[in-house]
Amino acid sequence: MSPTRRDFVVAGAAAALGTVALRRLAIAGPVPQGQPAQPVFTPIRRNVGYFTMRGGTIGYLINAGGVAVVDSQFPAEATACLAGLNERSGARGVDLLINTHHHGDHSGGNISFRGVAKKVVAHAKAAEHMRMPPGAQPPADQLFPDTTFTDTWSADVGDERIVARHHGRAHTSGDATITFERANVVHMGDLMFNQRHPVVDRPAGAIMRGWMTVLDRTIAAHANDTIYIFGHANTGLAVTGDHTDLAKFRDYLGAVLAFADAQVKAGRSREEVLAMRDPLKGFESFGRFGQPGARDALTVAYEEVTMGPGA
Ligand SMILES: [Zn+2]
Repeated sequence: MSPTRRDFVVAGAAAALGTVALRRLAIAGPVPQGQPAQPVFTPIRRNVGYFTMRGGTIGYLINAGGVAVVDSQFPAEATACLAGLNERSGARGVDLLINTHHHGDHSGGNISFRGVAKKVVAHAKAAEHMRMPPGAQPPADQLFPDTTFTDTWSADVGDERIVARHHGRAHTSGDATITFERANVVHMGDLMFNQRHPVVDRPAGAIMRGWMTVLDRTIAAHANDTIYIFGHANTGLAVTGDHTDLAKFRDYLGAVLAFADAQVKAGRSREEVLAMRDPLKGFESFGRFGQPGARDALTVAYEEVTMGPGA
């Protein structure tokens, strides 16, 4: 698509859909090099919305009974998010900070909530990995979870009920989905990469086959009109969507595993398989595979096929 045509489509779509759509289109695009990312708050429905700046998408709830935040990006971004939340809530502080998992682009900003968040919640494994991330340096200082769970955890904030669920090992061994039940909105953390090759943290217990099951269980646990917030999206794509987006991502994970399996059965070596960086047939929108590595989807698929799930 030529730039002229693209500009026309963007301008036309924005005019037709209004300011919210314009902001979504604006934030979905790449940040020009050298320009800092801007903080953007986007309401979804019934007091729940999402915040984007840099790092994994943050979810938030502000109602008459309290304020809840899901994930925290990095310290500077968390500070910008908190300033915006305070503007919108009348500076009522934060009742709950929930981490979907331990990765630094989702929990690194917890430190900015010290003395502000009354409670910090995460899966027990996520909390453990925040203190000691497998294959990475532990943080020098951080606000760690004070409340952990293994299967489910829930709390009421005003007239909203928040439910955290762990459906098994997937992106890490400690992922949780966070459901705002009355709003009918779910924060997926990094269980959802929208049409983008995911990080698969095998050193932290990821299992791609398990991830497919987790997505199926998440779809089954929610309604057809549930809106899901995604941890990340490919350039220009939305960070929210519906169950069809989850199903597509599940199918992608299955396709990477099938691809790796077919290469092994054809007698190709590890080096030959990991050198294949072309887009996966049927999932071209995900783009080329990244560099081989412990957290690369194709590498992990190869290791799962040849060695089984990691410890
Ligand atoms: Zn992650």
